[in-house]
Amino acid sequence: MSVLLTGAAGYVGSHACVELLNQGYSIVSADNYVNSSPVALERVRQITGRDFPAYETDLRDEEKLRAIFRAHKIESVIHFAGLKAVGESVKKPLEYYDNNLYGSIVLLKIMREFGVKSMIFSSSATVYGAATKMPLDEKMPLGCVNPYGWTKFAIEQLLRDLCLADPDFSAVLLRYFNPVGSHKSGLIGDNPSGIPNNLIPYVTRVAVGELERLPVFGNDYNTPDGTPLRDYIHVCDLARGHAAAMAYAAAHKGCEAINLGTGKASSVLDVIHTFERVNGVPIPHFIAPRRAGDADESWSSTEKAERLLGWKAEKGLDDMLRDAWRWQRQNPKGYHA
Ligand code: NAD
Ligand code: UDP
Repeated sequence: MSVLLTGAAGYVGSHACVELLNQGYSIVSADNYVNSSPVALERVRQITGRDFPAYETDLRDEEKLRAIFRAHKIESVIHFAGLKAVGESVKKPLEYYDNNLYGSIVLLKIMREFGVKSMIFSSSATVYGAATKMPLDEKMPLGCVNPYGWTKFAIEQLLRDLCLADPDFSAVLLRYFNPVGSHKSGLIGDNPSGIPNNLIPYVTRVAVGELERLPVFGNDYNTPDGTPLRDYIHVCDLARGHAAAMAYAAAHKGCEAINLGTGKASSVLDVIHTFERVNGVPIPHFIAPRRAGDADESWSSTEKAERLLGWKAEKGLDDMLRDAWRWQRQNPKGYHA
């Protein structure tokens, strides 16, 4: 019996591969490498000393996906595959709905064909939209502010409806906060192409000398130092959360949404100063205009994850930023070196 990981070569997926292989699971990877490299999977094999089948396929290619289910006894699916750039989703909503939502529909239809009734889905804290009451907990009303978020919202709703229609189906909707850091080996990590949208990859590219200065998007937010507060979570803690969700789904039917965050909030300036302190590398930065759509704060209640999954994040911001820097320093050009 194997677990199918869609989007396994991506940032979160590759770390989850390592965690699952280390826990003894058999895995199968399906990825079209639209935002990743098969080298990441080679590195996973190097870290774990274990091999696994990896298919290059788009989720929307029904025939290829069916062939994977035919070739392997899949017992559950962790569904990471998706496009994730918020700004791009505003410009290309059709591509985002097609890739993320239609891709999920094809996947779920094939799962039904083969009687596979367990899915762990990569959702996002973005489904809480413009909520202002912190910490964010799973009972809060949802609402999104961009097409990327709406694709997550729609897939969540689809899974809730599927679980209502089929009492044997298990779905865990994991709402990630801000995944950062990398595996301690420095062999796998976040590898965005072009100029990074996210804070930590921007910081590490300034540190490595590829970018000159970090723009701090606004210092007039309603927070102690004026820069926005986020719940950064180490990607290896996040990966462990998936293994815990798999165990939960194996024992429980129905649909549960669960936040994966640390419950701690750090500002942009906290990130810069912590990075400089733990790595001894300066991060030249300047205050730039606000970026549209950024909230003052976003951080997670951890109560439900602790109660249902017995999972809690263990790593702090120091670890996250030390590990993020090790990955960038060892791979200044990412997987393309
Ligand atoms: P990523 O882009 O590194 O990984 C996504 C993977 O999916 C890539 O390997 C990509 O090639 C693959 N993919 C995309 N569309 C595909 C398709 N149609 N068929 C096959 N493969 C396809 O992203 P990530 O950071 O690892 O995120 C994983 C998941 O978690 C995504 O669904 C993302 O939306 C979600 N998420 C990420 C974050 C974050 O900040 N990283 C936060 C919240 C939620
Ligand atoms: N940010 C920044 N400069 C950058 C990228 C991000 O100041 O070059 C800030 C952004 O305004 C937000 C925080 O860093 O307050 C985290 O942004 P990111 O895009 O990493 O994650 P988000 O919380 O938006 O999903």
